[in-house]
Amino acid sequence: MPKKSRNGCRGSAILINPSPQNRRLFILGLDGGTFDLIRPWVKEGRLPNLGRLLDSGSHAELTSTIPPMTPPGWTSFMTGMNPGKHGIFDFTEREPGRYEVKIVNATDRQARTIWSLMSQAGKRVASIGVPLTYPPEPVNGVMISGFDSPVLDRRIMQPPELFDELEKAVGGYPVSPDFARHAVRGDLKRAVEIICETMDQKARAVEYLFKREVWDCFMLVFGETDACIHYFWGHHDPSSPHRPPGADPGMDPIRTVYEKVDEILGRLLPLLPPDAGIMLVSDHGTGGAGRKMVYLNRWLEAEGFLSFRSGAGRGPFRAMQWRLLEEARSWARAVLPQSVVKRLRYRSGLGAKLESNQRFSGLNWKQTAVYSDETPHYPNVWINLKGREPQGIVNPGEDYEALRERVMQRLSEWRDPETRRPMIKRVFKREAVYHGPCLERAPDLLLQWNLDDDYSYLNGSSLMALGKNPVVPIRPHGLGRAKSMLNRSGSHRENGIFLIRGEGIRPGHRLSGAEITDVAPTLLYWLGLPVPADMDGRVLIESFEDAYRRDHPIVREDTSSRVPQDRAHLVYSEEETKKVEERLQSLGYIE
Ligand SMILES: [Zn+2]
Repeated sequence: MPKKSRNGCRGSAILINPSPQNRRLFILGLDGGTFDLIRPWVKEGRLPNLGRLLDSGSHAELTSTIPPMTPPGWTSFMTGMNPGKHGIFDFTEREPGRYEVKIVNATDRQARTIWSLMSQAGKRVASIGVPLTYPPEPVNGVMISGFDSPVLDRRIMQPPELFDELEKAVGGYPVSPDFARHAVRGDLKRAVEIICETMDQKARAVEYLFKREVWDCFMLVFGETDACIHYFWGHHDPSSPHRPPGADPGMDPIRTVYEKVDEILGRLLPLLPPDAGIMLVSDHGTGGAGRKMVYLNRWLEAEGFLSFRSGAGRGPFRAMQWRLLEEARSWARAVLPQSVVKRLRYRSGLGAKLESNQRFSGLNWKQTAVYSDETPHYPNVWINLKGREPQGIVNPGEDYEALRERVMQRLSEWRDPETRRPMIKRVFKREAVYHGPCLERAPDLLLQWNLDDDYSYLNGSSLMALGKNPVVPIRPHGLGRAKSMLNRSGSHRENGIFLIRGEGIRPGHRLSGAEITDVAPTLLYWLGLPVPADMDGRVLIESFEDAYRRDHPIVREDTSSRVPQDRAHLVYSEEETKKVEERLQSLGYIE
């Protein structure tokens, strides 16, 4: 069995191909992948292929971006830059000069990707399923966008003909598993089956592409490892406050998904050239979500920084409206096919406006100095700044600085009403986290909550809140809205994963201090390519053998890979917007 000899022996094939210029690299990306899950299952012998990689490669916990979210995480991976340079901070970004957000895509990225750099160097590349690569860019090879793609047709592939080619060869490529309906209905078995079938189908497409040609760099990302975390952490973790009543202790959907990853790895690795390098990477880690909802704008109100319009979001009626909206959303997720839900969500302008309504309506801007987007994922704070916000009241300069200091001070004193422990782990001014030309697009302050008994706080929308309390324990299974809470039993953590195995790499080595921006420089170095000087990350040189380091000096190329996109910015046409509007109306999202 070739599988055994290739995966089992440390660097077995390493002497075959000493020239870095002819290197081949396979990168497996696991969205939300974490050693916190992998290590124990490796010990139990459940993930033999990942276990062999850990033994034979060099690995590290990989510090994600702030916030540890899919869009900035993968974009920092693919550019080697911090969000201040590449410009992707979250799924959404503020429209300049307006209290509105829009959904971002790859055309908002202000930096070149590793695939673009490798293509320019004449490498054949494949990038399959990496988030925030829609629309796909032309590369010397193929690109298929990730699970955040708004459509499911030829437009997700570059070249577009690949779509038909894969249809014909293997029956098509599924962007992401259409399992939410089953999960919401409680049909766990079917939901997990669908996830695994989708991963198998992706693997068939990859096997086909492996056979079609030999790639210099082939990357595949499984978003399924993240999707299952959000939906099934309660099933995985017996102590989770979201543990469904009567959960089967013998069934762990997350473990099943990781076992599927391992099985696919076992199928793919033997198809690679024997001297190929292997890399594992994730955009952030994962952990359990807790049972307390935080309403940041309610806290800002209580502190005197923010004022709601009278009646806005206060009364049970308003809260009921928002709840109905949430119900409609989870209902849509539950009953509609994925293709329709995607269209609903996408950058229709309208979808984004809806988000904006939820986030910003109800604030009395004339009496609001500080406010939060209240994104469902990670907390941030904006100053209502004159000249920048449409109804700003805070002067730039000294007033702005003094106010930021005061908010930081008060935040650091904020205690959990139940445990009396500090709510905030860290609060940053944006310039302490980001640097570069896109800094101005970042929120003024970035917050990290502490964990509450190992579980993360949930971020609520204040307009949904009944009452004024900023921290509210939710009832088990969530405000009677089990459906919409179901996908929140797991959440993100800062620590992701990194592993590299191949020529010159120290086997079984564990390094520390690795950051997500370090991955791009490291893989370019291993492939014998220069590292652009303005990449923020460093080559993770500790992963390499001493002799290798001596023989292969790092080349920092004095060119910039931070170039504005030359592609046209992607915006929906009027007709497309209208179609989405109609659908939204039929669902009761808008009147
Ligand atoms: Zn992610």
